[in-house]
Amino acid sequence: MKHLALTLLLSILMTIPQAMAQQPVWALVIHGGAGNVTPGRITPDKQVQYEAKLLEALAAGQNVLAGGGTAMDAAIAAVQIMEESPLFNSGKGAVFNADGKNELDASVMDGRTGKAGAVAGVTVIRSPVEAARRVMDSSAHVMLSGRGAEAFAREQGLELVEPSYFYTDESWQEYMKVKERLEKEGRKGTVGAVALDKEGNLAAATSTGGMTFKKYGRIGDSPVIGAGTYASNESCAVSCTGHGEYFIRNSVAYDVSARMLYLGETVDQAATYIINEKLKSQGGTGGLIALDKNGNISTPFNTPGMFRGFVTSASGPEVKMFR
Ligand code: ASP
Repeated sequence: MKHLALTLLLSILMTIPQAMAQQPVWALVIHGGAGNVTPGRITPDKQVQYEAKLLEALAAGQNVLAGGGTAMDAAIAAVQIMEESPLFNSGKGAVFNADGKNELDASVMDGRTGKAGAVAGVTVIRSPVEAARRVMDSSAHVMLSGRGAEAFAREQGLELVEPSYFYTDESWQEYMKVKERLEKEGRKGTVGAVALDKEGNLAAATSTGGMTFKKYGRIGDSPVIGAGTYASNESCAVSCTGHGEYFIRNSVAYDVSARMLYLGETVDQAATYIINEKLKSQGGTGGLIALDKNGNISTPFNTPGMFRGFVTSASGPEVKMFR
């Protein structure tokens, strides 16, 4: 009997450090878009560039979180590195709409306060994700669009740029190709980040140029709270990427949280079901990144690949793009 109690005590004691090591005090997960990301399409040289940029984005968020900063600051810092990079479909490098213009969408949500902010269809704001945060922090609204959003960004003293700032040859070539084929498939990566800070607060941020050859004025899931972005300290933080119409119709980001709360699913069960079963059965392509309040990570996608990475106080950084 004594022996049994001792064995039990010993096994409990041995699992404590393990559990502590497994549960990170802070965590950050990022994505740079889901799509036709395959070794055949991404040259080795490009692969190196993507890996370096994803690591840079993780490092930016890690600096914030390791220093005791907030999940929101970390998510935005990571997203801004990718917005500034022409490699991704957000900020510089955003895809072109059917009229040959860049129209950008972004959103953020704070899991602690439940507050959210978004901008849609903006054309001159250098960092749409920062504008989204200002909408959350400094306006009475959740979403501002087009010229109203741009006027607000100006009032807030955010940096405005000429629309040509967002131009990259690569996105233009993609636009011309798609235009020629009159096909709406071309896609490169939206960006997003979800973070958990030392205080146990979650935050999510997403920024995109939308889908190549989208109709002028089309708004995707990325700026829609509950579709492309969601965060709640009770459950998880989520940022999505993929064919936005499907993500809006299925309230994907919110559904991850709802399944966890209502069905008692883990973050991975909820996210995997939505991406690999629900959306897939409808023909909706894409993926998401999700992080729960205990630092558990899920990054499912039903496309050939998705740019993604994570770093936590316990492990990483690690970046991947293929299956
Ligand atoms: N979800 C974005 C949109 O539909 C695009 C993407 O993630 O690739 O606007």
